[in-house]
Parts: sequence; C-alpha cells; structure tokens
Amino acid sequence: MDDCVFCKIVAGEFNTEFLDETDHSVAFRDINPEQKVHALIVPKNHYRDIVELAEASQPELLDLIALGIKVAQEQSNGAFQFKFNTGAEAGQTVFHAHGHVLSRTPKSN
Ligand code: AMP
Repeated sequence: MDDCVFCKIVAGEFNTEFLDETDHSVAFRDINPEQKVHALIVPKNHYRDIVELAEASQPELLDLIALGIKVAQEQSNGAFQFKFNTGAEAGQTVFHAHGHVLSRTPKSN
C-alpha cells in the first residue's frame, strides 16, 4: 500500500536495519521503544491487523509468530511479552499487522 509506513520499511525505502528476516516476515527495532528490548515483527504482505492476517494466511501467521519467538530469545533474557494491539481502541496506530516483542532485560553476552 502506497501510504503504509511498514510497507515502505519492508520495501527498504527507509534503510531500516532488520534484526532478522524470513520469506514472509521481517523484524526491526521500534523507533520509540517502551522497554529495553522492543522489536516489531511484521508480515511482508499488507494486512490491516493480526486478525486479517490469520484469516488470510496461516503459513504467514505461523512464520510471524516463529520469527517473534526467535527474536525474543535472541534479544532478551527469556522473559518477554509478544503482543498484538488490534484496533484503535486497543492502541493500534499503524494499520499494517505487527507484533511487539518487549523485554525489560536484554540478553547478556
Ligand atoms: P501500534 O501502536 O501497536 O500500532 O504500534 C506501532 C509501533 O510502530 C509504535 O510502537 C511505533 O513506535 C512504531 N513505529 C512507527 N513508525 C516506525 C518506524 N518508522 N520505525 C520503527 N517503528 C515505528
């Protein structure tokens, strides 16, 4: 979609650094992090929210969830949230499906 910020990120228009990427999904840092670890997990195809994604494509849904879990394990100490704000009333502000991976404690190396 022409005016969708996450479609532009997926297309590389903002040179956003990807933490990880699969055939169906990308992961990148939230521009306004709420916790020390705050990544967004985003399907490459445009869906309005996680419900529309789930109804359209179970493989893409599973891919996104698996990537979120992988990124959470790589970025955090193992204590994390993986959440999907769905609808403006629930705090969704970008209407391209995405999951937030949040953790207070980054993985120590
Ligand atoms: P939500 O409120 O659940 O729709 O989450 C949208 C998230 O996208 C917010 O946490 C924003 O900080 C984040 N965001 C918006 N624009 C960008 C961007 N260009 N790069 C990274 N994160 C962004």
